Amino acid sequence: MTETSTTQPPEWHFEQGPIRPPSEAHSLLLRVSRNCPWNRCTFCPVYKGRKFSMRPVEDVCRDIDAVARHLDLLRRNLGEPGVETQGLLQLWHDRLPSAEQASFRAAAHWLAGGLQSVFLQDADGLIVGPKRLRVILAHLQATFPWTFRITAYTRSQTVLRFSQEELIALRQAGLTRLHIGLESGCDAVLEKVCKGATRAMHIQAGQRVKQAGIELSEYVMPGLGGRELSEHHARDSATALNAIRPDFIRLRTLAIPEGVPLHEEWRSGRFEFCTSVEIARELLLFLQNLDGIAGELASDHVLNLFEDLTGILPADQPRLVAMVQDFLDLTDERRCVYLVGRRGGMLRGLRDLIDPIKEAAARNLCEQLGATPDNVEDICRRLMQRFI
Ligand code: SF4
Repeated sequence: MTETSTTQPPEWHFEQGPIRPPSEAHSLLLRVSRNCPWNRCTFCPVYKGRKFSMRPVEDVCRDIDAVARHLDLLRRNLGEPGVETQGLLQLWHDRLPSAEQASFRAAAHWLAGGLQSVFLQDADGLIVGPKRLRVILAHLQATFPWTFRITAYTRSQTVLRFSQEELIALRQAGLTRLHIGLESGCDAVLEKVCKGATRAMHIQAGQRVKQAGIELSEYVMPGLGGRELSEHHARDSATALNAIRPDFIRLRTLAIPEGVPLHEEWRSGRFEFCTSVEIARELLLFLQNLDGIAGELASDHVLNLFEDLTGILPADQPRLVAMVQDFLDLTDERRCVYLVGRRGGMLRGLRDLIDPIKEAAARNLCEQLGATPDNVEDICRRLMQRFI
């Protein structure tokens, strides 16, 4: 793989990027590069307007050392009888020079989360190349030998720049899991949203990761094909995943914030949102077409229609299919209550509708907002904006 040139910031300071996968909420976030080297996906707001750059390996190692120093202090002093943890943490934090406070917070957060895992930020951890990654992984392993999991986001394009031997070497150096945004397995969708990867590239990259013995988490975006490509999107995403056989499939439903190119396409009528029923039909088709995958389906994103659409494949597939079908079988009025309750943050899944207190809260919100089966989609889209 060809190494990309390094942009040197004037001086070191501890850095963390803006996002991580939901499953890495308790991880130590270690920033190995800044922002996204691709940054062209039309639905993605995260790094728009921000320039990509590498962080020098020495700076990343200094981040690790800074966290280690704070951890040492915290582990020696916390847990003593009579010590009031939260107050003490705040006191220590406030007494530190401001340049040290961010790494202190990172260490305290990691300690509270159990010191299990490290996530390499930002959008593409592999982009720094095999040589730099091996140095960072070695320093991590030497400093935190107990770390159970080291993971990163990457892109299929980047994986394909690595040889199989380089991927195996990363696994041997401690990289345990990669998160890839498949988004769709449909070429027409991928091209429209400017993903920069084809279905074939996604499949090849995913298979390579798996063959290297690295766990793989693939993200699928229900709704990304819009009404026009919904069916193709569902079927092709399922069959692409069947070929990859990832360890995790994660759903993250499309929502479009202002300022991204897809928002403009929607405003001008070139992109049509799927309704909630259409999203459910898409999910049904997707689930029905999954075949031969032994892994976990996760729905760990607040924007998803069902937060409890989770299970182990293939055993839970019939249950998951039935869950989506149950939603489609609801009366229009009851579906309206579910949608408002879900988008209002009161309901996680259909089972919550059986809870009289939660259902009453959802009905109240419906009344407050004047939601009816005819206007519920617009109301839900507005409610979803809070979570984007
Ligand atoms: S590769 Fe990921 S972070 Fe980069 S623009 Fe696309 S979706 Fe956003």
